[in-house]
Amino acid sequence: MTIYSTYFSRFIALAIFLFVVSACSKSVESEEKSFQSNIKKLEKLQQEYPTFKTALASQADKVKEAKKQADAESDEKKKIEKLSAVNSMANSEFVRILSSLDSEKKSLRREIDKLQQTQLDETDRMLGERAIKNADFAIRQIDMVIQQGATTIDDAQGRLKTLSKQLKEANQDLAKVVSNAQSKASEKEDKKKQEEQTAEEKKQKEEEAKFITCEYCTSRNEAALTNCKSCGAGLSVKKETK
Ligand SMILES: [Zn+2]
Repeated sequence: MTIYSTYFSRFIALAIFLFVVSACSKSVESEEKSFQSNIKKLEKLQQEYPTFKTALASQADKVKEAKKQADAESDEKKKIEKLSAVNSMANSEFVRILSSLDSEKKSLRREIDKLQQTQLDETDRMLGERAIKNADFAIRQIDMVIQQGATTIDDAQGRLKTLSKQLKEANQDLAKVVSNAQSKASEKEDKKKQEEQTAEEKKQKEEEAKFITCEYCTSRNEAALTNCKSCGAGLSVKKETK
């Protein structure tokens, strides 16, 4: 019975595994779906960033041309591979960077806010001011690059890659100052806790020293007593030998 149920549960697990794998793996249908949404995305970006319209349109043409070749493929496996390549092309680096600019800007502003709300010491304050200045500059760079735009794919790729690097660095600088200040604060907190603990232990020891334990009957006696209040044995003897 138990062997049977073990095999049965293994069979169920395998069935679920195969189902998940088949659902995740690429199919012509899923690649076609991705293609449609990628083309829509490229069109939307052209409206959003008119200065990059020519470069985006060139990319869209390239993608559509590659799609035609993929459509002509009769072997299903090869077709899926080709469609997948078409979709990667539609999401080329400059397209990805361009579509992330808005959220990058928001993220930088958020990091600036966070830094401004963080308590900083003298050294961190200087680093923080510099990081904020760099981040402000990076935000202005976004606007500038959008304003200037690019007409060719290569041009767009070059400008946006440089911008993306600047944004990443600005973001990291801000985060570094914040995390540094946070770890300093938690170190300070730890030290305070440890000091409190030491003081507490000292107090306990002092309290303990006010008493002496009788070595005959283990009664606790005030240290000032010379004889045990329970059994009458001498306490001072023990005190001297100690
Ligand atoms: Zn005693």
